[in-house]
Amino acid sequence: MSSTYYECPSCKTKVNVPFILHCPVCGFTIDHLSGKRLSDFQQKKFNKHTELLYCDTITLNGEYNASFTHKGNEQLEDLINFTISFGDRVILPSTHGDHDNLAIISYVPEIIGSGTTIFNVGYLPCSGICIVSPQSYNFGHPFPVLDSWVNRNFKDISSKCKICGKKVNIGQPICRKCYRRYDNNWKNTLK
Ligand SMILES: [Zn+2]
Ligand SMILES: [Zn+2]
Repeated sequence: MSSTYYECPSCKTKVNVPFILHCPVCGFTIDHLSGKRLSDFQQKKFNKHTELLYCDTITLNGEYNASFTHKGNEQLEDLINFTISFGDRVILPSTHGDHDNLAIISYVPEIIGSGTTIFNVGYLPCSGICIVSPQSYNFGHPFPVLDSWVNRNFKDISSKCKICGKKVNIGQPICRKCYRRYDNNWKNTLK
């Protein structure tokens, strides 16, 4: 694992994986992403992404909406550490289109969220997470993503397994073969 690096979202320094809670170079932490310290903007986002689980009727004002399940919420810190360590860096245009945001997307091999889209009936399971503007204390927030959202936004981008370099789909951090080295448990990569 010693040759595998992540890039700190804040200072851009390349550091050995795994990322755990803070950057050893600049001190960047994930408190604002994991919900320990929230700005008003983040609070609204958190409310929006938990709405789905606790309300019977959901107003779909976008084409996609998703919330972390209890299991996803419980593991949020690990999911964020994992995503920063192994996720794919992508650029996400802001909703107003006036500037681009850094985002990091990553799948894990288990269900961590549930979502709806205007293109499907009923709830769909999600195993993907996206952290928008991870470096921003005011606007950074994580949310679960549906495959269809990732495919629509980043369909022409491919990626590499962060361990062996094999070509994989965008957002797939570690290939199936390399996961075996971690007993098929994504959390073992954080040890
Ligand atoms: Zn840093
Ligand atoms: Zn691999």
